[in-house]
Formats: sequence, C-alpha cells, structure tokens
Amino acid sequence: MIESFKEMAEGMQDQLVAWRRELHKIPEVAHDLPKTAEYIAKRLEEMGIPHRTGVGGYGIVAVINAEKEGKTFGIRADMDALAIEEETGLPFPSEHKGAMHACGHDAHMSMALGAAKLLQENRESIPGRVKMLFQPAEEGPGGAKPMIDDGALKDPDVDVVIGQHIGHIFKTVGNGQVGVGKGAIMACLDSFKLQIHGKGGHGAMPDITVDPIMIATQITQALQTLISRERKPTQPGVITVGKFHGGTAYNIIPEKVELEGTARFISEEVRQQISKRIGELAKGIAESMRGSCEFEYVYGYPPLVTDSEFSEYFKGVAAQIVGDENVVEIDEPTMGGEDMAFFLKEAPGTFFFLGSPKAGEDMYPHHHPKFDLDESVMWKGTALFAATAYSWLKDNA
Ligand SMILES: [Zn+2]
Ligand SMILES: [Zn+2]
Repeated sequence: MIESFKEMAEGMQDQLVAWRRELHKIPEVAHDLPKTAEYIAKRLEEMGIPHRTGVGGYGIVAVINAEKEGKTFGIRADMDALAIEEETGLPFPSEHKGAMHACGHDAHMSMALGAAKLLQENRESIPGRVKMLFQPAEEGPGGAKPMIDDGALKDPDVDVVIGQHIGHIFKTVGNGQVGVGKGAIMACLDSFKLQIHGKGGHGAMPDITVDPIMIATQITQALQTLISRERKPTQPGVITVGKFHGGTAYNIIPEKVELEGTARFISEEVRQQISKRIGELAKGIAESMRGSCEFEYVYGYPPLVTDSEFSEYFKGVAAQIVGDENVVEIDEPTMGGEDMAFFLKEAPGTFFFLGSPKAGEDMYPHHHPKFDLDESVMWKGTALFAATAYSWLKDNA
C-alpha cells in the first residue's frame, strides 16, 4: 500500500503544482486569510471531506473517516504568506500587492490537499481517522495555539501529528531529500523589550544628566555574557538585540532608550533560566548607573521537539518512498522557530524537511522577494503524508 500511495502521489504531481500556483497568486498574511481559507474549504468540499472552518480564526479542521473507530492521525499545513513584494518574475505571481508566499506555505497547503484527496479516495482501506489541520499565522503571531484552544485536536482526539517544511532550511537536506531529526530540532522564538530611563539634558553637560544611551550600550554588551558565562555551554542559545532606538539630536542626551531583541534556545530549562536573567541583568546595570529599566519578555513559540520513536518510524516509511539514501538525519538543530511546536507539545509526532532548493544562481533564501522552490518534489510531500498516515494507523489499529 505504501508503494501504491507513492504511485498515486506521483500521478497527482500536475494537480499539486496547479493548486500551489493558484494559492501562490492569493497570498495573505498572518491571521487575515479569507481567500486562502475559502480556497482550501472549496477543495475539501469537492473531495467530500467534512470540515470545520473558522477554527481559531481562519483555521480549518477536516476529518477523513470521521465515523470510523480507531486512532486519529493529524496532518498539519500552515497557510500564511509574508508581507513582501514579490520579485520572482514567475508566470503566476502574487496578485496581492505587498504579500507573497516566500516561505513555501503555498506548497505545504497543496501537498496536504493532495494527501487529503488520496486518503479520502482510499478511506475504506484506512483503519482509523485522519485529521487535516490547516493553520494560519505561522510566520507570526502564531496560529497553532488559537486552533488548539478552539479544540482543533479534540473530538476526535489526535494521537499523533505530523507536519513538514519545504525548501532549504537545512543545507544538509538536498533536492528531493527528506530530513528528519529526533528530539529538539528547532528553537523557541521569544522576544524581549527593554525601556531604559535616564535623565535627559545638554550633550555638553553630561554630569547633570543620566545618559540612557550609555546604559543601553552597557546592557547590550552585558547580555552577551549571559550566553558566554551563564548558559550551559553544551546547550545552544542566542540573544540578539535587533532594535536600539533613542535620541533626537546630536547634542541632546535623551530621556530614554528602547531596546528590542530575540532570544532562542533549544532547551526549555535554559530558556527559563536565561529569560529571567535578561531582566535582572538589565535592571541591575541601569540602577547602578543611576537610571532605571522596564523589562518585558514574551514567551513565543516553544522549542520544537519531535518524538524520537515516531521520527524513527517515519524514517522507515520515508525510505520506502524516496529511498534510504535520500533520508537525511538532522543531527544539528536550527535556531529558527516554528509554531508546529505547539501541536507537538500536545501530541507526539514529527516535523520533516523536504529539500527543494532552486538550482544554482536562482536560489534565494526563505523570506526573500525572489524565493522559489523546485515544484518537482511536491508529490513526495503528499506521498509521505498519506503513506505515513495509512501505515501508522494500520500498525496501531
Ligand atoms: Zn518562513
Ligand atoms: Zn515557513
């Protein structure tokens, strides 16, 4: 049956490309996805798959074999695009000004639709249920959590969940190859804000002011000591101050400076430890320099942790579809984040990477106005979803 899912998916390749291109034309950003949701719902309707729209916003949950007994296998695809003006020159460009599918989520939806179609057409032979989870706002502010809060993983309860990312996030995953990692493979995606208050005044008379620029400079440097001196050296961690705003004129010492940054960790323990220390350190420095500091830390997406046992199982299925030599073990995490992490906190499962870089000079990174992918690998994503769902439900019936 795995072999026949592979053949059926290969046979759907043209359809997958057509869906992806149609979705590529109507990119929508964050939570505001009316056209995208309508498109997905229409395709599900044509396939005769019962579904619920408006889940946690524009999210959609569809269930194949809803009436059947057995376990429930979840398949998740993100739906959102980015606020980027497209410059690809493709014959099917974005029709929405200032928005573009520059991360490949158009392909994710298409591949998931393909799997839904194959599973629905073969539902008699599938010993359990498959739940399709179409999710908004992966690029921010996050759509997985609102869907979960709206019951996306309940009734029927999802036993395992799987998702994927196409493109070239991991350089070790070549074109058409499948990357799978065990355990924590992506970082948390947190942010923080620091408001540093001093006492403004004349640039020529610093002695009667409290200079928040000096304080902010010290804090920015000291934050890196949290990484070098307080983080466990064997656990990855990044702190980046990406915004440093203060001042209005060359000869004025300002009242305040605002810093914003991101913090990324793979270990939840290190995340908890360092996140608290950012505020303590910043406040301590500000006060010792006669200023003060307000600290705000936003715990965003958690680290993405795959289930090792399920990931191993998935590798076995993937080897039958793409060949053993094309299944790549991801042994080094990326500090990028993914809100699939929320689904994987609720149910065991995995998140795999389908290598699809455009060859040679045409290769632009994710989130670039010229980003594109090699569509010829898309049948693999569909086959991997459908065959793993079938196979796991059969083995766990
Ligand atoms: Zn992205
Ligand atoms: Zn993405």
